[in-house]
Amino acid sequence: MDDRVRIDALARRVRGEFPLLGRTLEGHPLVYLDSASTTPKPRAVIDAVTDYYERCTANVHRGVHALGTEATQRFDAARLEAASLVGAAPDEIVFVRGTTEAINLLRHALSLGPDDEVVFPASEHHANWLPWRMNTRPVPMPIDEDGVPRWETLELLLTPRTKLVSIGHVSNVTGCIAPVAEVVHAAHARGIPVLLDAAQSISHMAVDVKKLDVDFLAASSHKAFGPSGVGILYAKREQLRGFPLYQVGGGMVALNEDVLGPAPSHMVPRDVPFRFEAGTPAIEATIGFGAAIRWMRALGMATIREHDMAQARYLVARLREIPGVRVLAADMPPERRIALATFVVDAPGMTQENVARALGDMYGVCVSGGHHCAHVLHARVHLEGTVRASPHVFNTTEDIDRLVEGVRDLCS
Ligand code: PLP
Repeated sequence: MDDRVRIDALARRVRGEFPLLGRTLEGHPLVYLDSASTTPKPRAVIDAVTDYYERCTANVHRGVHALGTEATQRFDAARLEAASLVGAAPDEIVFVRGTTEAINLLRHALSLGPDDEVVFPASEHHANWLPWRMNTRPVPMPIDEDGVPRWETLELLLTPRTKLVSIGHVSNVTGCIAPVAEVVHAAHARGIPVLLDAAQSISHMAVDVKKLDVDFLAASSHKAFGPSGVGILYAKREQLRGFPLYQVGGGMVALNEDVLGPAPSHMVPRDVPFRFEAGTPAIEATIGFGAAIRWMRALGMATIREHDMAQARYLVARLREIPGVRVLAADMPPERRIALATFVVDAPGMTQENVARALGDMYGVCVSGGHHCAHVLHARVHLEGTVRASPHVFNTTEDIDRLVEGVRDLCS
């Protein structure tokens, strides 16, 4: 099937489910090409959140009344959905605020010291970079002139001091997919665990922690059609049980015997994953996340990925046609990238951030502009900023054509 036909058939089928896409921007129909930043939400997710407010607003794992029971059932169902999305067991999924908190929780849990090394590509998002320079020695893997990690250097970077290899499954700047199997093989051969930052992958392709054999996984709901404020950290049950406590408070404790005497005596945390979920969680966001996962799985992750590859091919090819545009990692084949293109526009007198702003203001096209939380990548490839277009399953070829038209105008 022709890419155009394939892209538009699915996009036209689903786009009516996204209320956001019905609005206009500066007098133009909205073209939303910023899903790598956060995705719009389908009606099913909005309804799940609204229904919680309207039908069963209550706290979870605490209430004895019927509303509490209903809210708890919906909340617990989301954990089952999240677990099955990544091929884990429900008690291996800790709900956190998002990928950033998941990685910081893991950093705390691994109790690394100043002599311990963490290896990660120099192209990583700050969320998978800055935690590894807090009381730890970061070891960034070199990248090429397009910001793609030089994976062949990995083995040279692994030493007896390496305590973790941490990689983005999909780069939020280049859209390239990491060779996870090779990385895991090299790390595990030396007894080193691997963290997969799946923030940019879980809404684009099937991700299975057991098949990939990764030790830890971090992801966010809001980049996968769900609400913001919730995400997951996956770790194997026994590993989680060995982690030190993170935050403490209500909801994570099974027994607190301090009440028996004047001095603190004995506190027994609940089993995993609850011992890492102190306080009232983001209940409605988590229920919405469950609905988002059901929505993606009803569409089918394989169907989404096929669409994604066709869109990647179309997007990169169309942008490359424009004189004065350089697309990062443009030669990476669609099988090894997602539908995301980061590019530099030669627009006289304009920064890349201004180009992104102009696309919104003048054409109604929403893209990202700047450093995309990857300052080191930009410094190493000598770029002061880039523009990033990240379509998803609801974007038609017409949306991409509008982007191309706008960029072409700004270049001339
Ligand atoms: N990792 C990658 C690859 C990302 O793209 C992002 C967000 O853009 C993050 C981590 C951080 O995610 P969050 O802000 O949801 O914690």
